[in-house]
Amino acid sequence: MNQTIVKKATFRGKRKGFLVDMHIHTNYSFDSAFILEETLIELDGVVDAIIITDHDTMGNFSKEILLGLESKYHLKNFSESVEISTAQGHILAYGIAAVPSNNLRPNEVIEIIHSENGLAVAAHPFTLLGLGDLIYDLELDAIEINGLRSKHANDLAKEAAESMGLPCIGGSDSHNRFHVGTCVTEFPKKVGSIKEIIDFVRKGKCKPVFLQY
Ligand SMILES: [Zn+2]
Ligand SMILES: [Zn+2]
Repeated sequence: MNQTIVKKATFRGKRKGFLVDMHIHTNYSFDSAFILEETLIELDGVVDAIIITDHDTMGNFSKEILLGLESKYHLKNFSESVEISTAQGHILAYGIAAVPSNNLRPNEVIEIIHSENGLAVAAHPFTLLGLGDLIYDLELDAIEINGLRSKHANDLAKEAAESMGLPCIGGSDSHNRFHVGTCVTEFPKKVGSIKEIIDFVRKGKCKPVFLQY
């Protein structure tokens, strides 16, 4: 890797909760060339954990690789998650074993996610490739506040979540070093697995937080 990597200022310590960037792309996404290790260098000391959510692909990192990276960079890497391109917009799925088939309808995708006890979240709903007003007709578990999108789009997402009685999570949707960790989810205490994350979100014990460096 012949490029200079500058680590962001240490952010941890200023917050009591457990910070997780729940929307991270790696070079396994068609639109990102940013490798996982570069993301971890940026976020070491900034958040406590990340969740890899590549576009329509998962399982690209073995348990051994993730454990090795965890001990090197002091933050947990949760997998078993993916950003699914449905026929009508993007859905983040947490805690599932495999990517559903391409181009299914959003309600079909959500059914599959729930059949595995996973979490179905509307990714950047009021933006290009988001579900838009369709979210009101779907059995979603949460709505995403997205670090890559405008304040207006995020305000609409927040309002929708409030009116639907759903929790919000935060994710950076990072595809490069400039976006990692911009928006993350704060949990009240340490989470050790994707299942625990799902439980906290289902109980509404989470909130999106914007980080500034
Ligand atoms: Zn997306
Ligand atoms: Zn994304």
